[in-house]
Amino acid sequence: MGARLTGYTSTGGLHPEEAKGLRIASSLLLGEEPPTKSDVVRTINAKGYRTSRGSEWRTSVLMRTLLHPRMAGLDEDGNPIEGHDESVLTVDEYNQLTERYGATPEDEEQATPRPAYDYLATNGLSLCDQCRYAMVGARVTGDADPSYRCPPPAEGRASCGRVRMTADRLETAVGEQVAAELLRPGVREQLAQLQEDIRDEVSRLRAHVQGADQRFAELGDMYGRGLLVKAAFLAAQQATKQDLKETRVRLRLLEQVAELDLGQVTDVVAWWNSAPQTSRRALVGLVAEVVYVLPSGHGPHDPHERINILWRTAS
Ligand SMILES: [Zn+2]
Repeated sequence: MGARLTGYTSTGGLHPEEAKGLRIASSLLLGEEPPTKSDVVRTINAKGYRTSRGSEWRTSVLMRTLLHPRMAGLDEDGNPIEGHDESVLTVDEYNQLTERYGATPEDEEQATPRPAYDYLATNGLSLCDQCRYAMVGARVTGDADPSYRCPPPAEGRASCGRVRMTADRLETAVGEQVAAELLRPGVREQLAQLQEDIRDEVSRLRAHVQGADQRFAELGDMYGRGLLVKAAFLAAQQATKQDLKETRVRLRLLEQVAELDLGQVTDVVAWWNSAPQTSRRALVGLVAEVVYVLPSGHGPHDPHERINILWRTAS
């Protein structure tokens, strides 16, 4: 049995206590005048944080764990893992850690990994217009530009796999349309109410996630009492797991939307150009229900013709 990666449970969800320790270590290491790695290790050990094996941290183990791509929900190639739950670190934090601590003289034959791309509108915020499956972030080859693509069809997934758009074109077009939408009369006034609605949805989704244990227990109980045959039990269990995973991903986005503070923003375009990707994503999630991505037609393309945004602010 392989060792579990600290920060995540064996089923891939976030391990809140371990994640907290790793996040503290990461913040210390990314500070203005960071303490030494051994100081960081001493600090988190003293606070009682342990590895997934229950051991005290050692410097090499901590750095190997923090520099593992899955800390930011990425695969070995730096692409986001489809449907990954909440991550221990953001892509931005992971990139900063890799830049500062990734390449050491003793492993210089190993190339420094290229910074991972932090996608604006994955995790259900953009959907393929053809098949309505969520677009995923991927590079076609190692040195290709980051792009959005409809996932190829697979067992249990009837996606078309035919729509693709580079991240730069898609995100620039989304940014321009979001800025234009905010300039429409009356839209800014709606944002506070929208945020209020989203806070309600966050509470509802949190309750739904918390009820998952009970739903699993009820299924087990029905199976135990012979009310479900094994195949039906397994299918229902799988559906409940999938639902939980999707709810967690949605919840993470909406939590960021609920926390977004636009109070001081006067020039939306300037704000967009300088805001961190997390804040931009939250703004898109606030004004837009979803971004549909259309297949490319023929001839020269205007990226605006490739996207169709369903606004929350439509009325
Ligand atoms: Zn599709």
